[in-house]
Amino acid sequence: MPTITQNNTQSQFWHKQSLDVIPGGVNSPVRAFKGVGGTPIFFEKAKGPHLYDVDDNQYIDYVGSWGAMIHGHQAPIIQKAILKAMEQTTSFGAPTPNEVRLAAKVIELVPSVEKLRLVNSGTEATMTAIRMARAYTKRDKIIKFEGCYHGHADPFLVKAGSGLATFGQPDSLGIPKVCAKDTLVAPYNDLNAVKKLFEQYSSEIAAIIIEPIAGNMNMIFAEKDFLNGLKKLTEQYNSILIFDEVMTGFRVGLTGAQGYFNIQPDITTFGKVIGGGLPVGAIGGHKNLMEILAPIGGCYQAGTLSGNPLATAAGLASLTALSEDNFFENLEEKSKSLLDGMHKLSHKYDIPLSGDALGGMLGFYFSGKKASCFQDIANIPSILFQTFFHQMLANNIYLPPSMYEAAFISSAHSSETIKKTLLGAENSFTKMAELNLI
Ligand code: PLP
Repeated sequence: MPTITQNNTQSQFWHKQSLDVIPGGVNSPVRAFKGVGGTPIFFEKAKGPHLYDVDDNQYIDYVGSWGAMIHGHQAPIIQKAILKAMEQTTSFGAPTPNEVRLAAKVIELVPSVEKLRLVNSGTEATMTAIRMARAYTKRDKIIKFEGCYHGHADPFLVKAGSGLATFGQPDSLGIPKVCAKDTLVAPYNDLNAVKKLFEQYSSEIAAIIIEPIAGNMNMIFAEKDFLNGLKKLTEQYNSILIFDEVMTGFRVGLTGAQGYFNIQPDITTFGKVIGGGLPVGAIGGHKNLMEILAPIGGCYQAGTLSGNPLATAAGLASLTALSEDNFFENLEEKSKSLLDGMHKLSHKYDIPLSGDALGGMLGFYFSGKKASCFQDIANIPSILFQTFFHQMLANNIYLPPSMYEAAFISSAHSSETIKKTLLGAENSFTKMAELNLI
């Protein structure tokens, strides 16, 4: 780890308090700064592209609640929708018109989705998607890819990227062997490995699940031929292709990664942006597949707070606002100008840097070679990102605290915000060059 000085006494105070009452002091492991060193910052409020911590420091936010806050913090259209919904009540546990409107909006925007079931998180969505695939195909095995994260349900915590990689743990404790044995893992972008799995287990594979643009091993694009190959294999072997778009859905573009690649999966999972900053997830797909779910079909899924009125109001407002003309063009112009600026600066300071930006999602890593699989990111010395992260923090820029995570930009980030970020990046590169880390 680099030498770290953090001048945030109130955050330090809350961190100490939290360690006494919350395991590890956090409610989701990557927040603990284990991947970058130092102690987590405690936040109090946020507005537009800015976060304010408990010491009253202002930061430019590139976490955006891990992608959910695509309109920035306190976006008036979303605040208004939540307040209006709250006047009616905070939960019915019964059907509401906004659930119908939100489902209809997703169906209108994403051609592969004919019906949609709402849940409360991305994990619930992916967990349900594989249950549906297993119920539909009457098979047990699933294929996932090394470095892809699909939430924290048991079958997915095998070579699961980001949070776990940050902790240097390929697996989690507490997962029964029987649960992990039906998860087959292949390297990302390696079609031959998938073909071999199908040859070996041809009549046992229920589904392939993949992040078509992986945001849990920084930001790595699947190759189009690879995705087309997966589609063909699932058709050939009558198994189900699941695109996990919890992160990329309504984030990289209006039609998600599937629109970018022009490939339709059988099932898509959503989360993050679809809830406008409140807890929502969703599973969508072809009508015949979706109707395997209870109460029509025999595949059970339920949720006390599913379709929560505040969450559906926020989600609907979020999707409506991002369907406006040029929303994603404008957003991508910002993420690309930030990445281009960082590339230019990295050349100036002789620091190897690669990355990508699409819509409001961007990734960068300290290597001269474009990454195509998890190992390419894992091989980069972590001291480089750790140092950069803390230098950026000292410049009041808050990046995801792990080299395995993508970053997110919102429509509230202005060109002035980007300029300030690039100034911070230049200061950080200067420091890295002085430290002779490369
Ligand atoms: N799938 C992907 C691609 C994700 O990035 C995440 C979370 O980051 C999940 C699933 C799980 O979502 P949640 O954290 O809402 O359970």
